[in-house]
Amino acid sequence: MGKKILITGGTSGIGLATANLFAGHGHDVCITGLNQQELDDSIAKILNQHPGAEVQGFVIDLSTQGSFEEFRIFVQHAGINPDVVIHNAGFGTWGYLSDISEERELAMMQLMVMNVYRSTRYFLNCMEKKGGGTIINIASISAFQASPTLTTYGACKAFIYQFSRALSAELRMKRSPVKCLVICPTPVNTAFQRQAGMQGSALFHSWMTVTPEIVARSIYNGWRNGNDFLIPGRFFMLLSSVSRRLPESWQIRLAAFYLRPLQ
Ligand code: NAD
Repeated sequence: MGKKILITGGTSGIGLATANLFAGHGHDVCITGLNQQELDDSIAKILNQHPGAEVQGFVIDLSTQGSFEEFRIFVQHAGINPDVVIHNAGFGTWGYLSDISEERELAMMQLMVMNVYRSTRYFLNCMEKKGGGTIINIASISAFQASPTLTTYGACKAFIYQFSRALSAELRMKRSPVKCLVICPTPVNTAFQRQAGMQGSALFHSWMTVTPEIVARSIYNGWRNGNDFLIPGRFFMLLSSVSRRLPESWQIRLAAFYLRPLQ
């Protein structure tokens, strides 16, 4: 039977590919977007590929103070009680800390730390009451080590990663019917690089770059298999288990190397 899937930031990149995949497997999908036009276009794209799919959406900016309350009220009023919630909405900031807008980074922290935290707590409670569900949080490989020039973004993703891993273990300890899965993609070809101004970074020209469809498949399979942690692409999962054993100073130097501007 089709499940109800709620995806934040489902209008582009990983979120849209994931919404498309779930809809294609007969699940009801609800996505959020930053503006109505983007949202309408994305819903039309999904329906075009999967006529008859149940797809809805709403517009919300989750980077402002008070936005979680707005999100929660909307979800409650619309009677959205998802079996799977995917905290995917995000953007990055790249460069030296002193050159980046503090306001932009505070908004990023609101979106990727405070609101992921609050939404995870909220849906965990709803899912435990209804007897099951999965919370899927999108982190990044930048969660594993300090990432110079992606400093604050990396720290936000480290929060998501550690929080999700610990929560997943906690849920098993207390035999909760709810699961938590964290996905840590390598660079993905999406609008993210443009938003972060990272088109000129070595990272997005590297062999590590994957497509949003690969990440979507990993999210879908991870959910189906009850995994609690995945890096999309078996090779990257293996490679990461090796690179995370390197001395920390080497890991940071490697990150800085890949994050350097190309010219
Ligand atoms: P994207 O720019 O294509 O999509 C981002 C989505 O988030 C869009 O739907 C956008 O509308 C939404 N969003 C952005 N700001 C928002 C806000 N303030 N409030 C609500 N929604 C907002 O990027 P993507 O690559 O698909 O990114 C999806 C997730 O994957 C993000 O959390 C990102 O950090 C993570 N990620 C991306 C990469 C990559 O290289 N692209 C790698 C690892 C992790």
